[in-house]
Amino acid sequence: MALIVCKFGGTSVASPERIQKVARRLIERKQAGNDVVAVVSAMGKTTDELVGLANAINADPPAREMDRLLSTGEQVSMALLAMAIEARGYNSMSFTGRQAGIETDATHAKAKIVKVHNDRIKKALEAGVIPVIAGFQGIDARGDMTTLGRGGSDTTAVAVAWGIGADVCEIYSDVDGVYTADPRICPHARKLDEISYDDMLEMSGAGSGVLQMRAVEFAKKYHVVIHSRSAFTDTEGTYVKEATDMMEEAVITGIAHDTSEVKVTIRGVPDNTGVAAKLFSALAGNMVNTDMIIQNVSEDGVTDISFTCPGADLARARETLDRIVPEIRAREVSVDEDIAKVSLVGTGMKSSPGVAAKAFSVLGEAHINILAISTSPIRLSMVIDAGQVASAVQLLHTAFGLDSDSVFEETQLSAEEIAAKMNKGR
Ligand code: ADP
Ligand code: ASP
Ligand code: MG
Repeated sequence: MALIVCKFGGTSVASPERIQKVARRLIERKQAGNDVVAVVSAMGKTTDELVGLANAINADPPAREMDRLLSTGEQVSMALLAMAIEARGYNSMSFTGRQAGIETDATHAKAKIVKVHNDRIKKALEAGVIPVIAGFQGIDARGDMTTLGRGGSDTTAVAVAWGIGADVCEIYSDVDGVYTADPRICPHARKLDEISYDDMLEMSGAGSGVLQMRAVEFAKKYHVVIHSRSAFTDTEGTYVKEATDMMEEAVITGIAHDTSEVKVTIRGVPDNTGVAAKLFSALAGNMVNTDMIIQNVSEDGVTDISFTCPGADLARARETLDRIVPEIRAREVSVDEDIAKVSLVGTGMKSSPGVAAKAFSVLGEAHINILAISTSPIRLSMVIDAGQVASAVQLLHTAFGLDSDSVFEETQLSAEEIAAKMNKGR
């Protein structure tokens, strides 16, 4: 008998039929003698629709009200799932973030979990109930609703698994595990049986949306084993856990891509000491998360500085630059929204020279221009034109020997759902 947390993402609870399927699955796990706790995301595209509604009312919605609004999505799916379980003759109770004891800091939209008070969930389990917890939400010290960042239900699941001492945290989604690249753009991607926390952290950090980065950070810190698997089939997925000797062998573990960032260039920046500090302090002060930074060689005492940041931070970046650009006497600002970041990830890269040279040659031969580069000992990221992202990922995947013989096949998603997934973050 095991204690299992099962998290179901938006696609898995997108319709009444799929919610019924999830209920059946949870009951099967219970019938097999396990104790189960469910964590759910909002149905389908609910969160995106709520964001759209808010923006139609207020171009810059107050963060507190935004979290209040977005947290309603998960409260619909949790109650429906509890009803579906009850309809099959099993006891279930749904819990909001507050009721499940998810205490966070007060950073709206990106709150961090600071404590998990698990008494109500434990009591429910002791009473033979299947608890269903709303993912993505918590409560701060003042009693205000907070949310954990997009994709944050993964983090709720890992935190709950840690809080109740679960044996495993199962994260169910529309793919059957973590692949060497997003199988939707790289059909020859290979499913990994297991991946280390460190490699998964880099994959998630570089844009691999299959697991939220915060969830992996939390799992690594508290040694929670994640099993990423399919909501539609019973096949074993991918275990995310402590590194083993076997895992260390590959030079490249996977390739991640991210189309959610934009590139901002400030032209004609006077090349004086302290200018960059002023610029980036102002951006940080306005919560703009800069990623890559490129400064060109200066000519005639002026230079160009570019940086990438999440598209979601662009309005705040523009607002900051409108203020700071005249102050530092720079000439103008331009924005390129059609970019993508492609990253090679692998702890094995540390001891393998030549990865960058090979990656640049592969893209060069395919006439894919590299706009920016950044490296760490276990990651190489390149910014390219968004329109070339699929071919870049596929070419690199083949060149680094990652291709599988089989081709990824869609099983359950409609064409509309696939299109929505591909546009995520744009
Ligand atoms: P959920 O809504 O269930 O949380 P997500 O959309 O967040 O699911 O995550 C699943 C998606 O992650 C898949 O549909 C897939 O297209 C995408 N994905 C990106 N990179 C990878 C990868 N390396 N392996 C598997 N899936 C990936
Ligand atoms: N519903 C939230 C989102 O769409 C949280 C999640 O799905 O994990 O980001
Ligand atoms: Mg997700």
